[in-house]
Amino acid sequence: MFKKDFPYFQNNEIAYLDNAATTHKPKEVIDSQSEYYEKYCANTHRSSFGHANKATQKYEESRKILKEFINAKLNEEIIFTKGVTESINFIASSFVKNFKTVIISSLEHHSNIVPWHMQGRKLGDGLAVVNCNKNLDFDFEHFEQLLKENPKAFVSITHISNAFGKIHDIKAIIELAHKYKAVVMIDGAQSLAHIKVDMQELDVDFFAISGHKTFAPTGVGAIYVKQKYLKNLEAYQTGGATINQVDFNSSTLLDSPYKFEAGTQNIAGIIGFGTALQYLTRVGYENIEIIEKDVFNYLDKELKKIPNIIFYNDIEDSIGSRSFNFENITPDDIGILVDKMGVSLRVGHHCAQPIMKKLGIKGTIRVSLSFYNDYNDINNLINALKKALSMLQ
Ligand SMILES: *Cc1c(COP(=O)(O)O)cnc(C)c1O
Repeated sequence: MFKKDFPYFQNNEIAYLDNAATTHKPKEVIDSQSEYYEKYCANTHRSSFGHANKATQKYEESRKILKEFINAKLNEEIIFTKGVTESINFIASSFVKNFKTVIISSLEHHSNIVPWHMQGRKLGDGLAVVNCNKNLDFDFEHFEQLLKENPKAFVSITHISNAFGKIHDIKAIIELAHKYKAVVMIDGAQSLAHIKVDMQELDVDFFAISGHKTFAPTGVGAIYVKQKYLKNLEAYQTGGATINQVDFNSSTLLDSPYKFEAGTQNIAGIIGFGTALQYLTRVGYENIEIIEKDVFNYLDKELKKIPNIIFYNDIEDSIGSRSFNFENITPDDIGILVDKMGVSLRVGHHCAQPIMKKLGIKGTIRVSLSFYNDYNDINNLINALKKALSMLQ
């Protein structure tokens, strides 16, 4: 029903089922890019001629749109980045470096694991990992034990697992962490495409956002920083546009958010991000929820009819992605075959090798949905899977 808003689907007859990797962009987001380049291309926050002012105004408008979208209190709590990876690296290197322990979950994306290793943290030595059970459920008891053993830890946990679609109860995680005086960052890369997040309701300290997984252009994202942490947050990059005053002896920096947005930003992308969020507001999370539940359940029902399929988590407490394997079949072979039949999905470790190792597998076949997917996509997928299996068995 919503595919008509996305030019990609006018140009391709493909069952696109890789939305956890990136989503498609609605026409108005694509148009907002060319509009900036064709009609008012100029740098922001620097020059003061007409188009420079317009570019700055549109850029700042995107900040306001995102602020309202996630219900942050202030514009300066929204700092634009390249995406979740940069958001996490920024907070890791500027804020978390002095924390003794970082606590993550078993289901983290490499972007929320590798930056901690780069700080010299290892399991049991600056890094702790919360267990999960066989259904990939977050182990709250273990989490509480880790919080007790590691006072004032930094907790960095994904909201929705990109590899399995598992949703963490982040409200409960944040509450428990705060009880033990821990500071919490949520990796929200998969969140905004599927469910409403509200910074006040969650009372989260840092929340990382990905634009390209939320119908916006690639190379844009943000980090929400609760106001009380802004004054102790150091810039991890500095240079043009971050300064108040510079001479050859010293420099003084501006306040948030400018102090954190060094150099010329992805102006077109950030303007497109605002446009994407406005589009998403028009579609509405109520509609997204209804469509996605329906198609997700249909997907699950149809997959379960295929013999020898292996799942790793129940569909309850999951959203967007379904990950599975077939007995004695390598996921990569399935990926190659279904691609030839017009089905785009991802096979492999989905940037989450540690959990794959824990499960004793190399990877999975992952189908990840967005609200524009329909029964037709699922039917094409199931037909392609059946054909591929008959060729491989
Ligand atoms: C995609 C993803 C990331 C990385 O996000 P980018 O915006 O592409 O840098 C991090 N965590 C999760 C859970 C993801 O799905």
